[in-house]
This record gives sequence, structure tokens and C-alpha cells, in this order.
Amino acid sequence: MNRENRSAFGKMSGPLKSFRVERIQVNLGRLCNLSCNHCHLAASPEAEDIMPWPVMQEILKVIDRKDNGIKSIDITGGAPELNPNVRALIEQLCLRNMNVLLRTNLVALLEPGQEDLAEYLFACKVNLAASLPCYMEENIRVQRGGTVFEKSIAALKKLNRLGYGEETQPALDLVYNPGGPFLPGDQEELESLYRYEMKKRYGLSFSRLLVLTNMPIGRFKELLIVNGGLNDYLLLLKQAYNRGNLSQLMCRNQVSMGWDGRLYDCDFNLALDLPIDAGDTHITGFNSQALSSRHIITGDHCFGCTAGAGSSCGGSLKASG
Ligand code: SF4
Ligand code: SF4
Repeated sequence: MNRENRSAFGKMSGPLKSFRVERIQVNLGRLCNLSCNHCHLAASPEAEDIMPWPVMQEILKVIDRKDNGIKSIDITGGAPELNPNVRALIEQLCLRNMNVLLRTNLVALLEPGQEDLAEYLFACKVNLAASLPCYMEENIRVQRGGTVFEKSIAALKKLNRLGYGEETQPALDLVYNPGGPFLPGDQEELESLYRYEMKKRYGLSFSRLLVLTNMPIGRFKELLIVNGGLNDYLLLLKQAYNRGNLSQLMCRNQVSMGWDGRLYDCDFNLALDLPIDAGDTHITGFNSQALSSRHIITGDHCFGCTAGAGSSCGGSLKASG
């Protein structure tokens, strides 16, 4: 497969090639206990796609081939906690001394049947990236609805009691995204503000704040279309294009894997059903060499990663550079 990137983004960035793949982001499925209005994957409680155990076993096989050089696994969803095999996967990853990160919406940690999950994750030294788009209740209600805010704070209190949020590992990072079609503020400044407000209002601590840009895809795109703001938002991202972010893009040293084992450059390309361009597109054909020099499939949604200080699942690119 040799797909050219003819989008406006492709014309500005030129062809992008990956570096050595060191991390796999594993999407356990679109099943989620929430239906947030900014979700790029349109995850929901009604979604049925979840990763079965045989696909998870293929990930372990890839890790066991040491020449693949995979050092860390980033587990996402949906709400990955709702996958019935998530603990079995984490246990096997920890046995292999993998650096494991789990992305949580916090509320899923309090779902029936998950009462001891937080303790389990702490015991396994699993790092957490917990989405909390704002420290103010009213803003979370708009993005996530219902009683999500109270439950998020309750989950954070439980995590702090366990030892998450100290300066030591495992880490408890919070994830911020703007509440509308605008670019996020500076990550360091927002982190200081969050740290102050979270302590003052709720007595809570966390490790780092990761600042993400809303991507113009999925449910957030639908919302922009309904509000008539899609073109303005795309223009904003394009005008804020920062070429300096290209070398830090997360697609350059990681691959994403969907619940059916297919490989993508990132979770956004997964959401858009743009599979990887490196021969075999399934985890069973994982070829570290081919993946580490692959041609990255880009599109105009990629302006979301390059705008301003840049954005990735690990937060602002400026801060990581
Ligand atoms: S943004 Fe996260 S928590 Fe919200 S619906 Fe999507 S996957 Fe679920
Ligand atoms: S959306 Fe971002 S991470 Fe994904 S391919 Fe585009 S630039 Fe890379």
C-alpha cells in the first residue's frame, strides 16, 4: 500500500516517517460507561466492540520478541476497565516488567464489580492518566453530564488514599482538554492552577497535568457541525500550525492497536479507520523494522496535533520536547 497524503496538512508537513517504535497504545474497545460530547471515538455504554483475550495474547507475543524493543504499553478505550480481561492483560504485562499506563475516566473505577480495581492497579504499579477536563463541576457537567464530577472526585480521593498522586511512581496524571472549540492554554500554567485549585477545593494531589487539544473528529466534530463551527475550528488549528512539533508527534515512535488487532498510526486514525501503511496491518504480522520506518497516514485532523504547543496523548508537545 502506498497512500499519498494530499490533504492540506500533507502539503504543509510533507511526507512523515516514523522513528523506532517503542510503545504500543492498545485500545480495548469503544465500550464506555460515559458518552462525552468531545469523544473522538464516539464511545458509549451501547458500544459492543471490545478486545477479546486471543488478541491480547498476540500483544504479549510481540512483547516477548525482545528484538521488537517494546518498552511500554498504553491501555485506552472506551473505558478499558470494562473489558473483562483487563486485569489478566495487566498481570501479564507486569510479569514482563512493562511500563504500563491505563487511561481512565475515573468514574469507571467506581462501577459495580470494580470495587478493588484501584488497589489492584496500585499494587501492579500501573500509571494512570485520568481525564478531568476541568476542576469546576459546572464545566464537567457540560462535557460529561450527570453526576460524573462528584464520582470523579470520589475516585481521586480513593486513589490519593492508596498512594497515587505522590511524587513517587506509580503516577497519577490528570488529563485536560478545552471545553469548546479553542486551543488549550499553556500546560505548565494550567498545571500550577490545577494543583492549587485541586488542593484548595478538594484536598487532592496528582503527578502532572497533561493538556490535550480537541481533535476535529468523532463526536466533537459532530458538535461543531451542529453549531456551525467546524470550518472556524479547522481554520484555527491550521493557522496555529507549528512545524516545530513534527518531530515530537506521538505517531513517530508508537503504534496504536484496535480491539480487533488492527494497527494504526494513532488512536485518531483508528477512529477514522485509516489503517497503518506498513505491509501487514494486523498485530499478528507485527514487523518492528517495517513499522519503525513507515510512512505515516496524515489528514487535516493532524492539525490538531501540530497546533500551538502541540498535542499528544502524553500532553503538550512543547513540554515534552
Ligand atoms: S472521552 Fe473517554 S470517558 Fe468520554 S466517552 Fe470517550 S472514552 Fe468514554
Ligand atoms: S492525528 Fe496526530 S498522531 Fe495521528 S497521525 Fe496525525 S499527527 Fe500523527
